[in-house]
Amino acid sequence: MNLTILSELPLSFLEVDIKDIEQVFSGPTLIHLQPETFTHEQPIFLSILLHGNEHSGFYALREVLKKKRKRPLLIFIANPQAAAKNRRFLDEQVDFNRVWQGGHHPQAKVAQDVINYVRKENPLLSIDIHNNSGKNPFYSCINRTDDEFLSLARFFSPYVVYFTEPHEVQSMAFSKFCPAITIEAGQSGERKGIETLVNKLIEVLDWEEIPPHQEQVVIYHTVARFRIPADLTYDFFNERSSEYELCLREDIEDYNFRALPHGFSLGHAKTPHGLWLEGDHGGNSFDEYLKWQDGQILVKKSFIPAMLTTNRAIIAEDCLGYVMEEWHGHRK
Ligand SMILES: [Zn+2]
Repeated sequence: MNLTILSELPLSFLEVDIKDIEQVFSGPTLIHLQPETFTHEQPIFLSILLHGNEHSGFYALREVLKKKRKRPLLIFIANPQAAAKNRRFLDEQVDFNRVWQGGHHPQAKVAQDVINYVRKENPLLSIDIHNNSGKNPFYSCINRTDDEFLSLARFFSPYVVYFTEPHEVQSMAFSKFCPAITIEAGQSGERKGIETLVNKLIEVLDWEEIPPHQEQVVIYHTVARFRIPADLTYDFFNERSSEYELCLREDIEDYNFRALPHGFSLGHAKTPHGLWLEGDHGGNSFDEYLKWQDGQILVKKSFIPAMLTTNRAIIAEDCLGYVMEEWHGHRK
């Protein structure tokens, strides 16, 4: 796997069906586009399809690229092979958003090539576009809480999530040389999320610099991840009598970005080991936030969940969801 660098946009990209995207890009591709007339010298970096089953960035970018541009753009089309198959990543691959801190995998080498190239171009900002599999609002993520990062994130959504783990993500690597955010544009292909992306990106492309945010920003900070042990049987029917070891509530996705109070039940479990809560620093956070009582998993300390999903592939490849708290560390 090697990085292809193009200086022109293949016009077929604007029309191709995503399942045929490999006819346009055979592998990871960085496109460096110059505008016809410059008003701003500093390029903007955009990446899409780091996860091949998250397509909103692909559709939004095509609409944005049909407009006239006045500044250079750097566009990274990360994983067309997985996108064509609507997979997060292929069997022989690793997660393309976990390879940005080095390593020996061919995808880590591609990531390093992208960093080396883009860093030299001194971009104004970086936006990496994703989707969630579960029901979530449109939101932005940051890995640093400096003003420019907050302003950029807040421009896209009132929901701003700050995280430092997993640290091998694209936005973390780019944060070392420019304001960088990740966008979670709702569920893949959702029209509303794509429209928001298109409108916001068109504005961003006209910026000379990042305008400071006017309103107070509420930041959510992820502190732990829910995991289901690989060999455990589970479902989402919330029944005590279930034959499964873990039986989570079926409407679990509806609670994303809502504060769960003390005593709230996440579902039934035959043992307290049916659900893991892995803290950011590797430790077990179950006892801090949850308790197992009377065969149920209950909230012990109030928290705000995010990215809770009932999608089994995502649960196996990534996690069931995240635990967040409101973050006040950035206020002086
Ligand atoms: Zn993603």
